[in-house]
Amino acid sequence: MSSVHADPPPPIVTEPSGINYATGSALGKGGFAICHRAERYDGSRPTGQLVALKIVKTKMEPAKLGQKFVTELQIHSKLSHPNIVAFYRAFSFQTSTYVVLELCSNGSLADMLKKRKYLTLPEIRRFVVQICGAVKYLHHRHIVHRDLKTGNLFLDENMNVKVGDFGLAALLVTEKEMEVKRRTTMCGTPNYLAPEILEKGKGHDEKVDLWAIGVIAYTLAVGKAPFHASTKEEIYKKLKSGTYTWPELSATTNQSSDLRNLVSSLLVPEEQRPIPDQIVSQNFFKIAFVPSSIPSAAREKAPKWP
Ligand code: ADP
Repeated sequence: MSSVHADPPPPIVTEPSGINYATGSALGKGGFAICHRAERYDGSRPTGQLVALKIVKTKMEPAKLGQKFVTELQIHSKLSHPNIVAFYRAFSFQTSTYVVLELCSNGSLADMLKKRKYLTLPEIRRFVVQICGAVKYLHHRHIVHRDLKTGNLFLDENMNVKVGDFGLAALLVTEKEMEVKRRTTMCGTPNYLAPEILEKGKGHDEKVDLWAIGVIAYTLAVGKAPFHASTKEEIYKKLKSGTYTWPELSATTNQSSDLRNLVSSLLVPEEQRPIPDQIVSQNFFKIAFVPSSIPSAAREKAPKWP
């Protein structure tokens, strides 16, 4: 279904500049890429610097690849924010394209949710504040992520959120392949889609990211996306009517009226959605505990907050 190769990567990958990367265990696989841990070497000297090495195999002719790739690199290489996966460099080696990224050793928020089912309110506050910081930074630069979801929100060794996956793969492929990627990677669960995307020609501004923040906040508290159904058509129907419900309070301990208000302020028509600064000044974040750090053990088990 995808062009991702499952073969192990070469043990040593070399940049044209001569810098080597010793590849390690796999971190994960996406629609177009596979990611491995790697250590950077200066010649034969290990530097101790661990990175995520994203390996993209593309069948596109070099001319087109070059043009699209350069455009993406120009955007991405300029991004520098504590809550955005740092993008170090990209190069070709043998038959693949390699992207060197900041290593997020604690997986994604989707992985964490799988283990935990739902998170505590203090965790949700900290994560949403960090996501808002990254989104504010992007929107200020007129960059729209368009694919914010728990699976693209990575966690570094200190459990800080790092927004990742800037659709690099989309820039490496043709529109036709992009359509295939959309179909295959969505797999019938367009849970994070803002309703205006369903209307042709709309949904290409930053408001779609704000909608996604609402979906993320709900999902972290409940364990399921608000517009959840077994078929794509049903999800579209729910999205269009904007109807979602909260589970019975007894089924989850992690709802508060302030959280519900936060989510309902975001899951509204695009012109009414608050911008990141307005999001973080809502009651949910006020006179409430926002932890200054989250332990790695929280990936498996709810922390006990004071
Ligand atoms: P694609 O663009 O093909 O969707 P992704 O960017 O989603 O590829 O990367 C594939 C997988 O690799 C992710 O789901 C995740 O598990 C892992 N991954 C990606 N970036 C990082 C990173 N910076 N640190 C750790 N793991 C990562």
